[in-house]
Amino acid sequence: MSIKIPFGIPMIGQEERAAVADVLSGPILVHGPKATEFEQAFARFTDAPNAISVSSCTAGMHLIYFALGYGPGDEVIVPAQTHVATAHAVELTGARPVFVDAEPEIGNIDISRIEAAITPRTRAIAVVHYLGVPVDMPAVVAIARRHNLFVLEDCALSPGAKIDDIHTGLHGDAGVFSFYPVKHITTAEGGMIILRDGALTAQLKLKRAFGVDRTHGERKIPGVYDTIALGFNYRMSEIHAAIGIEQVKKLPRFLAKRAENHRLLSELLHRIEGIRVLPAPAGRLTSCHYCLSVILNDSLADKRPIIMDALTARGIGSSVYYPQPVPRMRYYREKYGYDPTRFAVAARLSDQSIALPVGPHLSREHMKEIAMEFKKILEEVV
Ligand SMILES: *Cc1c(COP(=O)(O)O)cnc(C)c1O
Repeated sequence: MSIKIPFGIPMIGQEERAAVADVLSGPILVHGPKATEFEQAFARFTDAPNAISVSSCTAGMHLIYFALGYGPGDEVIVPAQTHVATAHAVELTGARPVFVDAEPEIGNIDISRIEAAITPRTRAIAVVHYLGVPVDMPAVVAIARRHNLFVLEDCALSPGAKIDDIHTGLHGDAGVFSFYPVKHITTAEGGMIILRDGALTAQLKLKRAFGVDRTHGERKIPGVYDTIALGFNYRMSEIHAAIGIEQVKKLPRFLAKRAENHRLLSELLHRIEGIRVLPAPAGRLTSCHYCLSVILNDSLADKRPIIMDALTARGIGSSVYYPQPVPRMRYYREKYGYDPTRFAVAARLSDQSIALPVGPHLSREHMKEIAMEFKKILEEVV
């Protein structure tokens, strides 16, 4: 049976196709005006003083740690419940990720456990806004200031998510977004860093492009430049940026649809025996509703594969966010060892949750169908 209700699809329309065709019919494929225009549009959307386009969220996070000079002997605090990229960005520099468990209510990093993980080697705290629900950043920033630590926000799932009406990514020292196909908006591959610090912005731009001292536009004699630092090629191409410009225009509409779908599906799945729906908090925290996560009670936990297979059989896409606590993933387990007692909440989220779709490709009718089928499947497996 084909999937009628996919978990996520890239929302590419005529506007994106025309924008790409436009770039391809001109002479400039990189170093051009589209990347700058996309940066400005994203900065306006988030109200960020600085925005730097990069080739992916992972590249952006790695670039930041690299520019800060982290290496062997340094430690960065990382949530156990996240995409592996949050940890890899640290590991790639030679520094060590020190994992902190999630709190059970919404799955974000357990802020009450951060301070115990800080050592004299700690340089930074990384957080992820899990499934688009913002971390209570003022509490994290207060700890960081006490210990003189940098704060990186992994905003891969948080465009539109705010705390006290300030966009995620602007509470800590830098935030990094992802435009991978199933995120809130896409450029195929791509990412964006937002930050306040102008000096760090200049460093990141330098090291994003080989550490060369002038861009194409700044070269008096074509082809002549000097290299003043070690750096990567983590730039975003004009093709990707052109897609991004069109996607940012649509983002408010996408977010409204996600909020509406999430609200409806939460209502429909409310008070069902055997499950708990991860809430989207209101008040100071504005969520951006990446998906709706259902946590199975312990008694149903071993039924997850059956339930997910049954959803697929009925044409409903689902997923798992994220499939393992990162310290339990083989690479990290083998390198650092794994103590399951330290990551019990993250493990429960990985092993007992099912992510259901609420994306802008889906309607109210789809939400009703998901809820109806999900209830039937639960009755069948109990
Ligand atoms: C998807 C994701 C990433 C990776 O983003 P890329 O743009 O593919 O590098 C990083 N962190 C989180 C939390 C993600 O969900």
